[in-house]
Amino acid sequence: MPDNDHGEHLTFAFALSGGAVPRVGCIEVVCGSMFSGKTEELLRRVKRARLAKQRAVIFKPKIDNRYDEVKVVTHEGFGADSIPVSSASELLERVPPDTAVVGIDEVQFFGEEVVAVAEKLADRGVRVICAGLDQDYRGVPFGPVPRLMAVAEYVTKLHAVCTRCGAQASRSQRLVAAEGQLFVGGAAAYEARCRRCFVPGVAVEP
Ligand code: ZN
Repeated sequence: MPDNDHGEHLTFAFALSGGAVPRVGCIEVVCGSMFSGKTEELLRRVKRARLAKQRAVIFKPKIDNRYDEVKVVTHEGFGADSIPVSSASELLERVPPDTAVVGIDEVQFFGEEVVAVAEKLADRGVRVICAGLDQDYRGVPFGPVPRLMAVAEYVTKLHAVCTRCGAQASRSQRLVAAEGQLFVGGAAAYEARCRRCFVPGVAVEP
């Protein structure tokens, strides 16, 4: 059984030993541009953990209310129960004691403190799966994500398809004039672009 299946930490030693072997925690980061399938990948990993009878909870920042207040909703509209929290410390407080897997969606919107929280949980034996944007609309590393990638055991970079040329897209092109990283705006305000087609900042279409 490979330990690393496309950046996903899969260990069954804990279950196979009946709990005699301590569960080893870890941090996984699933990152990429918008429309790259990060949330779908987070949900896929959580679903597999639940199939293995592991208790898994998903958190997301309260700021992302594009579609639904209480669900992690992907752009394709699939949902999963999640707990909206306003800070990383609130997230830590709300992890149930017997939790094996903690998913964090839109992790870029948490402050730097989410790095310490993820490490604390992983040190406790929790598998922490963080999904989020690695770059903002300017192409600049986004909030806590670069540090999370550095301390993570596993990093998965997903790609979207460039809407201009069809190449692998790694950037989120903002299409409307708005300032600040925290502008959410929904899918209509962004498109995925490759390095060549990306224009840092706002690209208002002619
Ligand atoms: Zn392109």
